[in-house]
Amino acid sequence: MEIKENIPLNNKTWFKTGGAAEYYAEPVSTDDYKSALDFAHEKNCEVFLLGCGANVLISDDGFNGLVIKPSNTNCEIIFADNDEDILVRAGAGTEIQNFINFCLSSNLTGFEEFSGIPGTIGGAVFINIHYFEFLLSDFLISARVINKSTGEINEVSREWFDFGYDKSKLHDGNWILFDAVFKLKKVDDIKTAFAKGRSVEIIRHRENRYPTERTCGSFFQNFSPDEINFEINGKKQIHIAYYLDKLGIKGELSIGGAHVSRKHANMIENDGTATSADILNLAKKMQELVKGKYGIVPKLECQLIGF
Ligand SMILES: Cc1cc2nc3c(=O)[nH]c(=O)nc-3n(C[C@H](O)[C@H](O)[C@H](O)COP(=O)(O)OP(=O)(O)OC[C@H]3O[C@@H](n4cnc5c(N)ncnc54)[C@H](O)[C@@H]3O)c2cc1C
Repeated sequence: MEIKENIPLNNKTWFKTGGAAEYYAEPVSTDDYKSALDFAHEKNCEVFLLGCGANVLISDDGFNGLVIKPSNTNCEIIFADNDEDILVRAGAGTEIQNFINFCLSSNLTGFEEFSGIPGTIGGAVFINIHYFEFLLSDFLISARVINKSTGEINEVSREWFDFGYDKSKLHDGNWILFDAVFKLKKVDDIKTAFAKGRSVEIIRHRENRYPTERTCGSFFQNFSPDEINFEINGKKQIHIAYYLDKLGIKGELSIGGAHVSRKHANMIENDGTATSADILNLAKKMQELVKGKYGIVPKLECQLIGF
């Protein structure tokens, strides 16, 4: 596996902004990962894992260190007796939609609830992707993770990840997800056809509801109920988009080439001319406005890299 130098990252992220990676590798096998980590230790440089770049903002100055883009994209059924529950292993670099398509083509359902979410299995496990009431952690059974300091590969169970909302153990920065095993439901052809239809419908719904390019999806996290007091019908309003919407900034507030999406108040879009600095400055302005009106500062869901 070749380790390349000075590789532009703007075309590898959804925001389409940011500078270059000092070093860049696309490992497939465990040996590739090991040699990438050995290289980083030799150079004494930082390591950053990049999936599809659907939830990151990379500094205009780029990343000083080694960017590893997992490129093991294999999916395989690893346990199939005649039971309804089937285990499927997916490599960290597998795109979420490709995994869903693989499952549906084998009459395996459940994961199609995440249809249309951009990203890889690595990025999805990192943030514990969610859509309405569905969480990735409901499906994950086990995984193989690589220790960044030692290169050692460990088999771990769901509990190890300590999953929460937008949270997993991978946030401590010490681990690389190599692959993960999910439990899916085996169904007949009629139910599979229904699940395929649902997948198409979810994608259509998402395309109407969210911007589809040059964004990272939700920029800020929802609040936890203990952070806020405001209630609607006796229920705490935890959705950050509600508060941002009330500020009247949707489609209106902009800095440089970055603006708050017309479709969704918690999404920032690059009009094609934005820098990462524009996007970050706009996000800071949004935080100030929420703090000024509601007294709370929204936390970032988007990961800032190289700032
Ligand atoms: C239009 C749009 C809509 C979206 N809608 C949703 C939604 O409905 N629900 C939702 O939950 N998210 C949503 N997102 C956010 C995004 O899709 C998810 O966070 C996705 O999981 C990002 O995956 P990625 O591969 O692009 O990760 P990246 O953005 O490349 O990386 C994100 C983080 O994961 C880490 N990471 C990546 N791979 C690994 C690995 N193998 N091991 C360890 N760490 C790793 C990175 O280091 C980084 O910190 C949306 C984004 C966009 C652009």
